[in-house]
Amino acid sequence: MSWSSTQLLDAFLSTTSDQIIPLTAQGVAAGCKVFGAAILRKSDLGVVVVATNHETSSPLLHGEINCIQQFYALPSDQRPPPGDCIFFATHEPCSLCLSGITWSGFDNHYFLFTYEDTRDTFNIPHDIKILEEVFKVPTPSESPQDYAKRPLYNKSNSFWTARSVAELVDDLHGEEKEDMEKRVKNIREEYNGLSGVYQGGKGSAGIPLA
Ligand SMILES: [Zn+2]
Repeated sequence: MSWSSTQLLDAFLSTTSDQIIPLTAQGVAAGCKVFGAAILRKSDLGVVVVATNHETSSPLLHGEINCIQQFYALPSDQRPPPGDCIFFATHEPCSLCLSGITWSGFDNHYFLFTYEDTRDTFNIPHDIKILEEVFKVPTPSESPQDYAKRPLYNKSNSFWTARSVAELVDDLHGEEKEDMEKRVKNIREEYNGLSGVYQGGKGSAGIPLA
């Protein structure tokens, strides 16, 4: 089944508003970060599992990793194969989560907020910093400008293809596009509030990279 950008956006934004944001509100109240994820069936866009960051338990329990853990905790007869699923992350997955998605067998992922949003709007700089510090090796033949321009990861590779919500919105036109932009803006505002709660208590929960 191939879904239109409108259908995918509707599924992602509804899942975010109805299921991920309420869970996130509980998480940030307990000192966890604002990141969430969902796994949906390709066949009907039904939600299989939704989860959010739980770094107060372990710094590895990012929203995506927690979601994958809960997905694989389902009995095998109640869990679709990962190849039959769509992976959605509220924020562009970090290096840990890109690897988690890869190792778990998903052939796609979609995200709402970009790394730059996470750094600039959410005041969490670690995604870009880890990819640059750990993975992005300068080569002697490369100019500093070319190094700066080189992407931090491969958005379309033999394991999966990644697309942002903004790219899906760009597929739309006219009133439909405007409506979807409004929905994204409303969700963005809700996240601003959640981010304020997290930032207000940041540092007290003992998360190494808060
Ligand atoms: Zn992550």
